[in-house]
Amino acid sequence: MSQAAQKSLIYEGKAKRLYSTDDPNTVLIEYKDSFTAFNGEKRAEMSGKGRLNNLISSAIFDYLAKNGVPVHFIERVDEVRQLAARVKIFPLEVVVRNITTGSIVKRLGVAEGMKLPRSLMEFYYKDDALKDPLITEDHALLFGWAAEADLKTIKEITLRVNDLLKDFFESIDIMLVDFKLEFGRDNDGNLLLADEISPDTCRFWDVLTGDRLDKDRFRKNLGNVLDAYEEIWRRISRMGK
Ligand code: UDP
Repeated sequence: MSQAAQKSLIYEGKAKRLYSTDDPNTVLIEYKDSFTAFNGEKRAEMSGKGRLNNLISSAIFDYLAKNGVPVHFIERVDEVRQLAARVKIFPLEVVVRNITTGSIVKRLGVAEGMKLPRSLMEFYYKDDALKDPLITEDHALLFGWAAEADLKTIKEITLRVNDLLKDFFESIDIMLVDFKLEFGRDNDGNLLLADEISPDTCRFWDVLTGDRLDKDRFRKNLGNVLDAYEEIWRRISRMGK
């Protein structure tokens, strides 16, 4: 366990709680057992979900850090908590799509399950009241949500993360369909990949069976939601063994 003692609650989100520590440069992130979808309209509690997302996200951030990606993640502290650099989050959600599904199919009427000739990157403005609208880079620049140099760095890191994660998941027979990233800036001004990377924020399809192993099981009432998260963790934890 790290030296950082948990102090007060800074923020409680839909899936995580954030606590200050005795170090102003770090936070403790606690993963909750809550599921939410459709901008918080659909909710459920499932015991053990927080643990699985903490284990999965920690393993993925470890792998990205080892491959030179600048990340907020420092270490996993226990089953449901991790220590991370304290960052100020850019109000942007960066989505990468390798295969079409979800909102792009609804919005543009394109076919479901199309493998894109190259990955597609999209930006959304993080605002619950506005339901996270799709924006262009120009919106982010003109409204001051990110500077030009920041967007350039964010795009470079995002493409690198996509390449690394595609390899990572391919090696455990999982297709990385799409995912969402968030970025922040630490107290020293470094731009870091932040938030979580888990079955809540990615779509994972089993290469062999096409089974959905992510939050779509909750969104679409497919059942066996936690079994899918457990299966992702089982494959990750056996990697290289
Ligand atoms: N995503 C996310 N948080 C959001 C919106 C999307 O983590 O607030 C993830 C989602 O799990 C999927 C990808 O980003 O892996 C693309 O989501 P999409 O735009 O298709 O939206 P959805 O269909 O989930 O509303």
